[in-house]
Amino acid sequence: MKIFLNGKLVDEKDAVVSVFDHGLLYGDGVFEGTRVYNGRVAFLDEHMERLLDSAKVINLNVGMTKEELKKATVETCKANGIKNGYLRHVVTRGVGTLGLNPYQCKKAQVIIIAADIQLYPAELYETGMKIITAGTIRNMAEAVNPRVKSLNYLNNIMAKIEAINAGVMECLMLNAQGFIAEASGDNVFAIKGNKLMTPPTWCGALEGVTRDKVMQLARELGMEVSETVMTRYELWTADEVFLTGTAAEVIAVVEIDRRPIGTGKPGPAAKKLIKAYRDFVNNNGTPIE
Ligand code: PMP
Repeated sequence: MKIFLNGKLVDEKDAVVSVFDHGLLYGDGVFEGTRVYNGRVAFLDEHMERLLDSAKVINLNVGMTKEELKKATVETCKANGIKNGYLRHVVTRGVGTLGLNPYQCKKAQVIIIAADIQLYPAELYETGMKIITAGTIRNMAEAVNPRVKSLNYLNNIMAKIEAINAGVMECLMLNAQGFIAEASGDNVFAIKGNKLMTPPTWCGALEGVTRDKVMQLARELGMEVSETVMTRYELWTADEVFLTGTAAEVIAVVEIDRRPIGTGKPGPAAKKLIKAYRDFVNNNGTPIE
């Protein structure tokens, strides 16, 4: 496997970073997860824009423009013969001293990995997922804003541990006020009648690329779409609930906290959106020629 590391494609065994990199020492950096479908990178502009925005918020100079990042991404896919897969962009603060001071780090490290994707089992899209509400709350926007896709994922990992320990694969995360933020690695939506609702990002959600596309597709399907402040009441009483994310795509949730949602089976709206989203990503994107 060839890895893009600081402007060059290198063999996997040579793709090593220093133990003094602040990405390792402090989780000081940002990342992205992007999909490749049928030889095309899905939502490449959107992912690179979010990577650069995340970097801007943590005052990290990536040292590459969006166009340079896009070109490097396509080259990395090409070098690895990737037709379908998952990309990981990582930008770390770079090599510094053992102190916190990020300004001691001379240069950001830019890493692009093009690999296979680990998906949820296919039958989960037929049966739907069971989730719980985690006790770990989502970080407050005034701490590290959840809109920043930073290398500090312990908040999400703490919640994920609760989910796995409870025998499920995902969990809801609430914010400090008790409102729904998102799942540990996905955004969350609720459907009531013709209304599709998802929490606003200020409730503690990442502005998911999949979330944005699904909102657009739902509008095109004639649904009334809104960003709505929600508690668990809205989810427990919803007709349907589903999660969205680059890896998960759109996946129905049929049980939350051991309570069945709607009929307890994936509903018609989730099924329509799963299909519409797959149709879109399989037929659009930046070609790897
Ligand atoms: N929320 C969190 C916390 C995430 O890490 C992700 C990405 N895995 C998402 C939501 C979904 O975002 P996207 O649709 O851009 O993958």
